[in-house]
Amino acid sequence: MRVAILGLGIIGSAWADNLRADGDTVTCWNRTSKGAPGEKPDPAAAILGAELIILVVADPPAVESVLTQLLPALRPGQILMQSSTVDAACNRACAQAIAPTGALFLEGPFTGSKPAALARQTVFYMGGDQAILERARPALSRLAKAILHIGPVGMAASLKLAMNVNIALVAQSLCESLRLARAGGISDAIYFEALKLNASKSGVVDLKESKLRAQDWSPQFSLKHMHKDLNLAVKDVSVRLPLLESVRTIYAAGMAAGWNEDDFIGLMRLMP
Ligand code: NAP
Repeated sequence: MRVAILGLGIIGSAWADNLRADGDTVTCWNRTSKGAPGEKPDPAAAILGAELIILVVADPPAVESVLTQLLPALRPGQILMQSSTVDAACNRACAQAIAPTGALFLEGPFTGSKPAALARQTVFYMGGDQAILERARPALSRLAKAILHIGPVGMAASLKLAMNVNIALVAQSLCESLRLARAGGISDAIYFEALKLNASKSGVVDLKESKLRAQDWSPQFSLKHMHKDLNLAVKDVSVRLPLLESVRTIYAAGMAAGWNEDDFIGLMRLMP
């Protein structure tokens, strides 16, 4: 398949490498040149001839900026999958903006951080027309362990934000529980052995145990992006989420400490 990847951050670069390894023709673009194979100087050049275009950049302003550069180059039948984590309104605006070009829109946020992207274990939450999804599926299935069709454009973004709220709250709970155990003189080895036999064990533990034990804050998923997602989650939503409000202040403190690019589990440092 001819695939264009726009955004060569942690995730986009892993997906591009895997598709290229499969023999797909992969062109790509990044705002700051990375010298990657198939890299083009601008988004319009990168999408030339691509059947599937995957946009995976930071946030809604980044999506809007790249989309503006793309619009004159989009051609009828090309599929644009917007995989950056944004709010539902942003994805609906993207779908509306590209409709006059004849290109087709898919919403494709995902879960699974760097290790999952490298190991083709991403889980995609898809929003949009099922028939468009079926055309993209051959390429996506080689990146993913699951592809869930959620509903019309906007719903997948809402689900993705709900999932990230859960991860952030579970991660904060894990950090506080670990801190309490350490204060009680319990070794990390005993703590994690007991946790794995406890009802509260989670996928977050599987992913972050080694980082917490080694105090390795290198990013699988950066604090700045989780902070962005928690802020997007409360935007336009009228429900009151008291624990989320509290955790947002903790993320703001981590950002103020300058840990933006570190993994979000590095918030453990707020409890020395
Ligand atoms: P990342 O490593 O921080 O990379 C961000 C990318 O966005 C870079 O390519 C960056 O370009 C680009 N970018 C930022 N601002 C831009 C702008 N104004 N115009 C154009 N490009 C811009 O991020 P990532 O971890 O790959 O995540 C990408 C998206 O996936 C985010 O929305 C994130 O929330 C979501 N996500 C990530 C994970 C994860 O575990 N990493 C999991 C699920 C969802 P430069 O290199 O030039 O800065």
